[in-house]
Amino acid sequence: MELELTETQELVQRTAREFSSRVLAPIAAEVDEADRFPPEVLRDLAQIGLMAINVQPELGGAGAGAVAYALAIEEIARACASAAVMVSVTNMVGETIARFGTEAQRRHCEGLASGERGLGSFVLSEPDAGSDPGSLRTTARRDGASWVLDGAKQWISNATHAGVLLVWARTAPPETRTRGISCFLVEAGTPGLELGRPEDKMGLRGSATLPLRFEACRVPADALVGEENGGFTVAMMALDGGRIGIGAQAIGIARAALEESVAYSKERQTFGRPIAEHQAVKWKLADMRVHLDAARLLTMRAAWRKDRGLPFSREAAMAKVFATEAAVRACNEAVQIHGGYGYTREYPAERHLRDARATTIYEGTSEIQRIVIARSVLA
Ligand SMILES: Cc1cc2nc3c(=O)[nH]c(=O)nc-3n(C[C@H](O)[C@H](O)[C@H](O)COP(=O)(O)OP(=O)(O)OC[C@H]3O[C@@H](n4cnc5c(N)ncnc54)[C@H](O)[C@@H]3O)c2cc1C
Repeated sequence: MELELTETQELVQRTAREFSSRVLAPIAAEVDEADRFPPEVLRDLAQIGLMAINVQPELGGAGAGAVAYALAIEEIARACASAAVMVSVTNMVGETIARFGTEAQRRHCEGLASGERGLGSFVLSEPDAGSDPGSLRTTARRDGASWVLDGAKQWISNATHAGVLLVWARTAPPETRTRGISCFLVEAGTPGLELGRPEDKMGLRGSATLPLRFEACRVPADALVGEENGGFTVAMMALDGGRIGIGAQAIGIARAALEESVAYSKERQTFGRPIAEHQAVKWKLADMRVHLDAARLLTMRAAWRKDRGLPFSREAAMAKVFATEAAVRACNEAVQIHGGYGYTREYPAERHLRDARATTIYEGTSEIQRIVIARSVLA
């Protein structure tokens, strides 16, 4: 694996770092309090090229690759984890359209990259189908020159700001399970697509997560993305890449928790000296740093393999499970290091813990990642 960054990767990292510390970090606490993210900042993120990092330049993207993408998500998440969700899901949607879409569908990539079409939404989960998307029940029925979608979706990130939604629906009877699912490109505002009330979440409060309803929602025949009944493969390939992004998001949150813990432990005094001089605190900081670096190496390996066209599904699952669980532990320790103040909103440690907690759940829970890894270990 190549450990030195290329000029392009460094440029993307620098761009994301500069924007994140100047614009995102100062608003992160307010975004969390208000449950709202300023739309103009989303447009700015697009304008500096961060909404389509791994989409080809011909389609409006930066064409910078998966390593660059992971570096950017880490920088964004370090400043504001809610922003990292919005950026990573939009990148995943753009990449999926670029890879599986028709010529006409691929034109939407430009709108996502520039911010003109808003964000992208990845509409797979349902109230009774999360870890097991093969059991999803939303249907798409062919009716002349259209497809008609009916059903309920759950936990959809970005939907309030989305211009383009990738929606998975059943196009063959339920017993076909994963072999009877297709993917559709649905534009925001299509009649029959209704947005529900955003969930009142524990963390990531600046990133809206909501239920959607499709009622006789009619889309043209050419809204099908990829093969009819081949949508499950499209979803799984998208999620493999998405997991690199979630690993990077977890690393960014853990890095913020570590950096703030280091600063606090040098300042806070007990028994006549900074708490950083107590061995118990030093060991916590050392462990946080070891796990952070290990998480980054695993994530970079998965991204590096993806950039080279090598199989990376197992590596992405390993990166996701390790980085997200390490981030939850690191954020928990950060609260501990901050003592009573860590349990208040005066310091960001509690927000990092609430934000990190979601990363072991979405885009495949830790349990599902272990199933993917074990399958390959036992093969
Ligand atoms: C903040 C947030 C944002 C999200 N954004 C999106 C989005 O944009 N698009 C989207 O489609 N979805 C999204 N999701 C949904 C997310 O992907 C699902 O919540 C996740 O896949 C888990 O599904 P579930 O909630 O139905 O839990 P369940 O599948 O019901 O799982 C419950 C528990 O059982 C465990 N479990 C399930 N099956 C097994 C098994 N075979 N072996 C061992 N353990 C098992 C799980 O690991 C979990 O611990 C989001 C979720 C959250 C919280």
